[in-house]
Amino acid sequence: MSRCKVRAHANIALSKYWGKSDLALNLPAVPSVSMTLDGLVTETEVRFDTRLRTDRVFLDGRRASAAERQRVVEVLDQVRSAAGHLQRAEVRSANHFPTAAGLASSASGFAALAAAATRAAELDWDDKRVSALARQASASAARSVFGGFVELPAGKPGQASLAARPLHDERYWDLRIVVAETAKGPKKVGSTAGMERSRRTSPYYEAWVAAAPKLSAQVKRGLKLRDLPLLGAAMEQSTLAFHACAMASAPGILYFQPATLAALATVRDLRDRRGVEVFATMDAGPHVKALCHVDDVGRVRRALTRTEGVIATGVSAPGPGVEILEWD
Ligand code: ADP
Repeated sequence: MSRCKVRAHANIALSKYWGKSDLALNLPAVPSVSMTLDGLVTETEVRFDTRLRTDRVFLDGRRASAAERQRVVEVLDQVRSAAGHLQRAEVRSANHFPTAAGLASSASGFAALAAAATRAAELDWDDKRVSALARQASASAARSVFGGFVELPAGKPGQASLAARPLHDERYWDLRIVVAETAKGPKKVGSTAGMERSRRTSPYYEAWVAAAPKLSAQVKRGLKLRDLPLLGAAMEQSTLAFHACAMASAPGILYFQPATLAALATVRDLRDRRGVEVFATMDAGPHVKALCHVDDVGRVRRALTRTEGVIATGVSAPGPGVEILEWD
């Protein structure tokens, strides 16, 4: 028997991942760059036990649904196959997200699972291998293995070892993300289904895949130079380009809500009329995430809180990679 408990943090993509180059291996067709977020935390404990006859999975204190359990078992199966044993596991995971998050739970969830399961199985894997394992469950999870600012390159079909890599640690640049939550409830079209529909039907899919590497490179250059306007311009174009690609699918995929546009207008107004260096991004959902300097975070948050339709706001700083809490 062996047990490991870890903590992982969610991340927000500054240049976006949308589209897969290999469905079976879950490889992204475009490179992405993210910031790992403090505060948005998943804690996962994995315990392998010879007495268990089947894997037991609990999420937030309840038994996981069949679909949720299946995604976890697929990761455990890979770990068992690498470790050369067949022990079943009990997995207990909790997502500690503030209500204003509206952020990816799969990123921190599968980063935590991959890290806890490999250690509990006594596999001596480095972060890169853990990241590649997490990536197969959720591409954004590959990035959450590392702290600070992280890149996940595009994958070539068949490239099973593709992993994220850290660019700068969490102390590198004191930026903030202000999340403006604009709607309640789960998204209507999941990311995997949305990406596939875009690839098969959107006339803009190839244009998006062709444009994404340049935008990702500009985000990296902005990070390297600590130049927020350089980074922010590419970040906004990246998000609007992937949404344009998704919208042009058949049938169209529209994640925007009225409050999404209102929050985008607030960000532009702060920038154009008040001279605040603040830039927006959205994932495959209606929430708006504004990136700004730490000194401007109060102004940005107040403006977004006052924006019509915004339900709640939250603030995140750059956060650390996976942390081992207990291991025996
Ligand atoms: P999100 O935007 O929250 O990542 P997804 O639909 O991509 O939304 O992923 C949510 C799914 O990720 C859940 O339905 C569940 O299967 C899985 N998940 C979320 N949190 C965890 C966790 N802590 N441990 C294992 N799986 C998780």
